[in-house]
Amino acid sequence: ESATNNFYITQKAVRRILKPRSKFSHKGTFGHALLIAGSYGKMGACVLSSRATLRAGVGLLTVHIPKCGYQIIQTAVPEAMALVDDSEEIFTRPGDLSKYNVIGIGPGLGKEEPTIKAFAKVLEQFRKPLVIDADALNILSSQRELLHLIPENSILTPHPKEFERLVGEWKNDFERLEKQKQLAASLKSIIIVKGANSSVATPEGQIYFNSSGNPGMATGGTGDVLTGVLTSLVAQSYNSVEAAIIGVYLHGLSADLVAQERGMSGLIASDVVDFLPLAYKKLL
Ligand code: AMP
Ligand code: MG
Repeated sequence: ESATNNFYITQKAVRRILKPRSKFSHKGTFGHALLIAGSYGKMGACVLSSRATLRAGVGLLTVHIPKCGYQIIQTAVPEAMALVDDSEEIFTRPGDLSKYNVIGIGPGLGKEEPTIKAFAKVLEQFRKPLVIDADALNILSSQRELLHLIPENSILTPHPKEFERLVGEWKNDFERLEKQKQLAASLKSIIIVKGANSSVATPEGQIYFNSSGNPGMATGGTGDVLTGVLTSLVAQSYNSVEAAIIGVYLHGLSADLVAQERGMSGLIASDVVDFLPLAYKKLL
């Protein structure tokens, strides 16, 4: 494999693909995203993803939540519309999916049997890209027959442990990258393995390494923020490779701006959401 298939994501490259908001735009211009996230005790993940989806610029956001999440989401994220499941505590049944440009699924979702079935229904019904994270990835690892249902140009965002559940162990970084490229090619989707210098693998065999971000991000919920950012960018009709490149960079840059102002030791995921507007401002 030639070295020319590896790239470093720089600020300059991200600037080239970012589209400024036109004067004549309206909320319809920036898409309608659906997030399926959260369960009893894990509504925080859903709130973080939702707020990040909005801060990354989506036009409209609907969030599918169990009954126990209704007041939480309406209060914490008034900008989002809530779609309430029949279940008190978990995701058990998708609604009508036809009006959304993209679905983000996984943060705080849980892996109960009815949730597995409901996720399978989403995969059967929705033929546009999905952003798949967290428990949705863990479900795919245990229900491998679902993998072939993933729509092409979806974005999967495993951290190393979730990636290992998907593809098995690797001996070194080279082997991990090979497994990442193989999965991207076989699913015709984008695989982001998260960490310091997250790597983005495309179905065509390219790998992009992120240059933004800092160890302050090694704390609960920052991955849920990335899911929201990516979902938002796909809704805004960036293609999935562009969304992945912009998304990882913007997410890391936001955390870098938090660290610049307040240091990284006290950084929490909500801060990364709150600094997304400044990160955009730096790029546009
Ligand atoms: P998760 O493990 O799903 O919560 O995701 C963690 C997020 O924080 C990912 O976007 C990682 O890329 C990022 N992250 C974690 N540790 C570091 C680090 N040491 N340097 C930069 N980014 C990190
Ligand atoms: Mg995570």
